[in-house]
Amino acid sequence: MIVNDKKVLGIFGYPIGHTLSPLMHQVAAEYHYLDLIYLAFSVKPPDLPAALAGIKALGIKGVNLTIPHKEAAIPLVDELSEEARLIGAINTIVLADGKLIGHNTDGQGFITSLSRDVGESPKGKTILLLGAGGAARAIAIHLALARAKRIIIANRTLNRAEELASYLEKHSNRVSVCAIPLEKEILITHMEEAEIIINTTPIGMSRDDMVILPGERLRPQQLVCDIVYRPLNTPLLQAAKAKGGKTLDGLGMLIYQGALSFKLWTGRDMPVELVRKRLLQELLP
Ligand code: NAP
Repeated sequence: MIVNDKKVLGIFGYPIGHTLSPLMHQVAAEYHYLDLIYLAFSVKPPDLPAALAGIKALGIKGVNLTIPHKEAAIPLVDELSEEARLIGAINTIVLADGKLIGHNTDGQGFITSLSRDVGESPKGKTILLLGAGGAARAIAIHLALARAKRIIIANRTLNRAEELASYLEKHSNRVSVCAIPLEKEILITHMEEAEIIINTTPIGMSRDDMVILPGERLRPQQLVCDIVYRPLNTPLLQAAKAKGGKTLDGLGMLIYQGALSFKLWTGRDMPVELVRKRLLQELLP
């Protein structure tokens, strides 16, 4: 088999371990009878420039980028979509006319999941965002674009939250923003006013993780979202369910960001419900 005859796609990350992206894109490709393969590449940070150059050399049609490459890739591509420029991070690269074009589908993936999976919109809402890393940045920018009323950013490293808050203020004069440390007493004050709470930190992935905020203060009227998808039912979501609240796990965001990447590479729509069913078989015990 000559690999160049096939459309090769992939994901670069480190560690890349248990990524679900190859399965997701393979299911979508088979559904559309597309002759493509999607591979997971373990790429260490110092090797990213060579790996990206390899996309052109090998004729790979596109890749996803995951931890820790999303921001580091910005100066290494030929062009950026408007969205990737605004977010300052890339999760999807398309090889087009010999050029590497960087896109970011994470934020839109989350907003689509919010709307399709739980019928919610950020418009006019007060949102407590936990974390200020790459995913938080993509989500925060989309929350502002979708006309959230107020975004409270809580982060372990306060200056990162402050940086994101001032960036949002600079780029949107409609949203009110504030930055707070990820500390119990301060969280309690701000949990009161939040209509939507979104965890964008990895807390909840490890078996020993505690609930990221004081769970006893959650209210049934609040929508609680966790972008962690392994496990699906994180301690935060369990705490929200115990209070009778509505919850959203990270699987929808994973699928919808992937669907946007798939569309960029192939022009086809991802069969999202088929993909969800298949991924659930992997994720549920
Ligand atoms: P990132 O850029 O490294 O940011 C990590 C964020 O989590 C930072 O705000 C960091 O705070 C905080 N954090 C990390 N460990 C913490 C701890 N022990 N205690 C408190 N805060 C902690 O990572 P990312 O790309 O944003 O990804 C974050 C998570 O989202 C990952 O679990 C990833 O798998 C998930 N994710 C899911 C999807 C999806 O499709 N569902 C998409 C993207 C990402 P500091 O600033 O203080 O370090």
